[in-house]
Amino acid sequence: MSEPRVSAAERVRYPSTALITGAARGMGAAHAAALGRRGVHVCLADVLDAGPVAADIIAAGGSASAHELDVTDPGSWARVVGEIRAERGNLGGLVNNAGISRRLGFTDTTEEVWDRVLRVNLSGPFHGMRAVAGLMRESGGGSIVNISSISGQIGYFSPSYSASKWGLTGLSKSAAGEFAAWGIRVNSVHPGLVGTPLLDGADAFVASAVASIPAGRTGTPEEITEAVLFLLSERSAYLTGSEVTVDGGLVSNGLYHRILAESGGAPG
Ligand code: NAD
Repeated sequence: MSEPRVSAAERVRYPSTALITGAARGMGAAHAAALGRRGVHVCLADVLDAGPVAADIIAAGGSASAHELDVTDPGSWARVVGEIRAERGNLGGLVNNAGISRRLGFTDTTEEVWDRVLRVNLSGPFHGMRAVAGLMRESGGGSIVNISSISGQIGYFSPSYSASKWGLTGLSKSAAGEFAAWGIRVNSVHPGLVGTPLLDGADAFVASAVASIPAGRTGTPEEITEAVLFLLSERSAYLTGSEVTVDGGLVSNGLYHRILAESGGAPG
């Protein structure tokens, strides 16, 4: 008996060019590698050198370019979008992934920390969406994926991080409404705890957090990539303004998962 085949029409379609911020390491690098394997030209942007990740994608047979970008600087965005316009002529995907975390409570959060986190995590995607919208529109539309966090869906102890990610959740919905007329979809992804350099120095916090994760473990960058791929592809053509939570059940069930574990099971 022959194997059922996926027809050409059923094959997953991705934008031919996608820009990923914060792509020099961590989850951004994982998203970039996965897109490269799927034939997408990946523009990797970061304040760090994304050249090595781009070189790996090319060595594996993909197509990629590295761009220096500080997401807090609108001028930097204009230059990068100009480079993509000149080199590629189109842009169908943007992943606003660059982000920073300062794990400080209210009294320890200085004005400087507050401003910096808000500028990178919230103003960065705002500048980015404004910078790419024109080229995406000319490209026939596209998909923007904003990497928020579960800290943008529930209360989290760090005011700067939580406010920036809640802001990004709202910003995504605002943009989804306006950009729909241009065929541009905007959705947010909300990772739970994922082992990347962002969690460096938080070992005790992470170990304790796992007790509240029904899946019993932290996530991998590749598990977040799956959601990003779906949202960038035409398989999610009717999704816009949505929140996709990828957290092993932490937000929806973490509280009772921990209570039951600590109290010895259902009370009966
Ligand atoms: P990471 O620290 O490994 O990578 C972040 C990347 O962003 C780095 O390459 C860094 O150089 C880049 N970056 C920082 N500031 C920048 C700027 N101003 N301009 C351009 N690039 C800049 O972190 P990660 O865990 O891969 O995080 C990726 C995204 O996922 C972030 O938005 C983060 O807030 C979010 N997130 C992470 C977790 C987690 O548990 N790791 C959970 C939820 C959400």
